[in-house]
Amino acid sequence: MDDRIAVGVLGATGTVGRCLIRLLDGHPWFRLAEVSASSSSVGQTLGARTEGSDLPAAAAAMSLGEPDSEWESPILLSALPAGAAREVEVRLAQAGHLVVSNASAHRMRTDVPLLIPEVNPGHLAMVDGQPWDGALITNPNCSVAGLATVLAPLHSTFGIERVVTTSFQAISGAGTPGPPVGSLLDNVLPFIGGEEEKLAQEPQKILGELKSGLLTEAAFAVSASCTRVSVSDGHLLSVSVALEGAPSSELVIETLQGFEAPLVARDLPTSPEHVIEVLPEKDRPQPRLDRDRGRGMTVTVGRVRPCEVLGVKFFVLSHNLVRGAAGAALLNAELCKAQGLAERTP
Ligand code: NAP
Repeated sequence: MDDRIAVGVLGATGTVGRCLIRLLDGHPWFRLAEVSASSSSVGQTLGARTEGSDLPAAAAAMSLGEPDSEWESPILLSALPAGAAREVEVRLAQAGHLVVSNASAHRMRTDVPLLIPEVNPGHLAMVDGQPWDGALITNPNCSVAGLATVLAPLHSTFGIERVVTTSFQAISGAGTPGPPVGSLLDNVLPFIGGEEEKLAQEPQKILGELKSGLLTEAAFAVSASCTRVSVSDGHLLSVSVALEGAPSSELVIETLQGFEAPLVARDLPTSPEHVIEVLPEKDRPQPRLDRDRGRGMTVTVGRVRPCEVLGVKFFVLSHNLVRGAAGAALLNAELCKAQGLAERTP
């Protein structure tokens, strides 16, 4: 008998949904039980709607339902676009499910945790203030996932004053079907709708302090410029940071290398061995060479050096579909299960 917890995936035909389905294959705690997509896909099999995606046969044979239908699974992993997620995710939390979402719709709600298990697992307590029988938790924007993970030890050790970042974001970050064919050939797109605002807002919530149910956001400002580049997967960010006390680059490297996840976030099935890796080579990290470190869950840092304007600068790379989306949601669901939250739901 399979006594793993049944899990449903909303938006299963999309870029993040398909990645979730691959990561769920053979998962020790969860089994994929149900899938949904938009009304244009309902009734078709997942395999028929994702031809060439090479999904596990059992998943490919599943019939796609409506996100708003009755779900049997206690845990629902949402890869819906923000517009669709806004009402559906709340209705499903009201119906008693644990909804773990990739979408931006509810990330900034004051009663919804914006969670990276290795960084702010204590924020999970915010669900106690939610008005639903179930619960809703979110993971950050795909670029913020890497950025906030690296800023976390710098903020707790020194205190961050200011951050300036430019991103070089992969094509898969735009979802399916992605940018028009040819638009990225011999080109860089210097605009991604809504992205810079997320980089400017989300890190402060993630690095905020939760006391007696109230979150005080971290006070530093982030100035972000986002670009789309001709890379399949993996978002690279150039980051300059002003830190209190202006520590040397060597001390920053030491701090990043010494980062360890809190005990509650270690040894979950999707936890990487190294949350942050600092590479010594002067031409790393590179998306093609480094995005799959730690099965896509390790955040890679390189070229840590003095910044003439803010104090220290470096590059950060993370796999946008794994650390930045599907793997992040799965790790959040695992933390919930480990903390007994999955048992609260039907
Ligand atoms: P996507 O490829 O466009 O997939 C969207 C999925 O949602 C598809 O399964 C689609 O089904 C379904 N869908 C679309 N409209 C719907 C509606 N009105 N009702 C129900 N289902 C609907 O998008 P994605 O890149 O996977 O992103 C999914 C979510 O994750 C988004 O909120 C995105 O911002 C977030 N995210 C993405 C990334 C990334 O790197 N791509 C990273 C972090 C977070 P059909 O196939 O039937 O249209």
